[in-house]
Amino acid sequence: ALLLGVWVLGFVALLFADERFTDEKSRGRFDAGTLTFSKALWFNLGVVLTAILVPSLIRLLLLTLPLFGVLYASLHLARTQMLTIAAITWVGYLVSTGTLVLMGWADPAFEGKVFLAFTCMLTVMSYLASEVTALRVAFERRRKRLNEAMEQLSEIAMRDELTELYNRRYIMDVLGRQKALADRGHLSFTLCYCDLDHFKRINDRHGHQAGDRVLRDFAEVAQGVVRSVDFVARLGGEEFLLVLVGADEETAERVAERLCERTRFLAMIPEDPDYRQTVSIGLAAFQPGERVEDVIQRADRALYSAKAQGRDQIVRGS
Ligand code: GH3
Ligand code: MG
Ligand code: MG
Repeated sequence: ALLLGVWVLGFVALLFADERFTDEKSRGRFDAGTLTFSKALWFNLGVVLTAILVPSLIRLLLLTLPLFGVLYASLHLARTQMLTIAAITWVGYLVSTGTLVLMGWADPAFEGKVFLAFTCMLTVMSYLASEVTALRVAFERRRKRLNEAMEQLSEIAMRDELTELYNRRYIMDVLGRQKALADRGHLSFTLCYCDLDHFKRINDRHGHQAGDRVLRDFAEVAQGVVRSVDFVARLGGEEFLLVLVGADEETAERVAERLCERTRFLAMIPEDPDYRQTVSIGLAAFQPGERVEDVIQRADRALYSAKAQGRDQIVRGS
């Protein structure tokens, strides 16, 4: 009874300790806790040591419990750990039943048969448990690879291929979220709708590849003038949209001026060092309650005015 008490108390203590010491983050359905190995081993050793104290029939039933301990270990531990538990359980039972026989307290023939049966059951269960572990490991590896692939896919889905800026679809999502925030009186935002001036000429004079290079260079410049909380997207062709979070029109105008200036002074075509690319920009600050399409349209109209007034300039849309 004393032995049983110590065993049960120890097991309960291990259960609690495992809960406490296992890092919440590393906890998955089949992950091992810090003390899972000790828990399973304690359970199995306790059972086989207690088993010899009880009448023969109940003992047979008790001896099936360590098999479940091994199965449990296969779901949570590495294969070697699981096999170690099975081996120690077997040795534990061998020692206890051997002691009984050597002391002359039990019938050697009966103990021998029970021991043989237990050995067979434990062997078969260890084999099955190995299979379970192999399945689990393979499944886990596949899950990891799938997760990585999903992350890559979602990254691809939100980027423009040429410039690696956000694409139109993603920036529309962003605008929806920013609108929801601004409507609730949180951060508002201002749009800079940018269109490169006379871009068709570059393609015509220097070819499509030179045009692509200018688009990439401009993307880099645009990314460089905004803060990390802002968003820069390529809407398509030579049109770009800057979403300046928490910025009013004055602030946005300063950002737009910097963008115009840096673009103007960049020699983007090596074959034609004198060529200067310029950009026209229409500004519009979001007004709480309006639709995303409305603020984009105002920025677009401002951009149209900038083009009409001679390009290479910024026009406010409100
Ligand atoms: P504006 O100053 O009025 O904006 O004149 P623009 O020539 O820039 O405007 P327009 O819309 O007439 O021409 C845009 C050109 O952009 C036409 C198209 O060939 C070119 N373009 C669109 N997408 C790409 C691209 O991905 N790569 C390259 N190289 N050119 C592109
Ligand atoms: Mg255009
Ligand atoms: Mg253009």
